[in-house]
Amino acid sequence: MAPTPPRIQFDRQFDAQTGQTVAVAEGIVRVIAPNPSPYTFTGTNSFIVGHQRLAVIDPGPEDEAHEAALTAAIGERQVTAILLTHTHRDHSALAKTLGRRLGAPLWFGGQHRLSRPLRRFEVNPIRRSCDWDLVPDRVLTDGALVELGDMALRVHTTPGHCANHLAFGVADGDVLFSGDHVMGWNSTLVSVPDGSMADYFASLDKVIALPYRRYLPAHGGEIADGVAHAAALKAHREMRNQQLIDAVSAGARTLGAVVQAIYPRQPAKVRMAARMTMMAHVEYLQAEGQLRATRGLFGMRLELA
Ligand SMILES: [Zn+2]
Repeated sequence: MAPTPPRIQFDRQFDAQTGQTVAVAEGIVRVIAPNPSPYTFTGTNSFIVGHQRLAVIDPGPEDEAHEAALTAAIGERQVTAILLTHTHRDHSALAKTLGRRLGAPLWFGGQHRLSRPLRRFEVNPIRRSCDWDLVPDRVLTDGALVELGDMALRVHTTPGHCANHLAFGVADGDVLFSGDHVMGWNSTLVSVPDGSMADYFASLDKVIALPYRRYLPAHGGEIADGVAHAAALKAHREMRNQQLIDAVSAGARTLGAVVQAIYPRQPAKVRMAARMTMMAHVEYLQAEGQLRATRGLFGMRLELA
């Protein structure tokens, strides 16, 4: 039997220093945007990478003070590109304006797209959070290198949270910008069909096999041992798969009943996210042949396969 991974620990003790330019590693500074919420924790982390030639990762929301803080931190230095980990608006809304101001192109993993086509009558529950119209000047593919003079970033495709999600590794270094894929303060929202649980599992395996240990996520503080944390997140999701199977075995027939069984005492806002994530688990287990979900006019009926 494989050894049991340690129980997941979430770190919510984090001094955001919103709007301040904070040096977090050699050639890397962070400025946190003033958009805290239950989904963004203390706000979006925007990173500036490089010494003389820079990349900006995730400019964040459209906010004048945040834009001023970023341009002040950049100063007169040349920005090679604005990079996005993905096209959810809390990461991307400022990208166009900032790119125009700096004369910098916008590079990311392709225009926003769903992880699978919508079913008849289905609505993407997070459609308003997505930046559908943003078009990259260059589509970054897996393994691409973003050269920044004496530093470089390696592109790693990490779909799951959403289809065009990327992580960026400091080439020949220890740091991975893990975006929303691996975060220290909470597990990632996976909402179908924007995201995919099967892709998310595969992308966890992918980053675990990469040579980076120190993760800088797009929300919350850094993760000292990112590989161990990604492994714990994977175990946490596997536990949720098992809890879903157990709830259906015990007689839960609807998504609501499953969420009630697994998250009995959660506030409404968290329960909404739990419902979306549980739906992603249902689709995953259905594809794995472990669960049967019959979709009808009045919702979905669950049975063991
Ligand atoms: Zn985000």
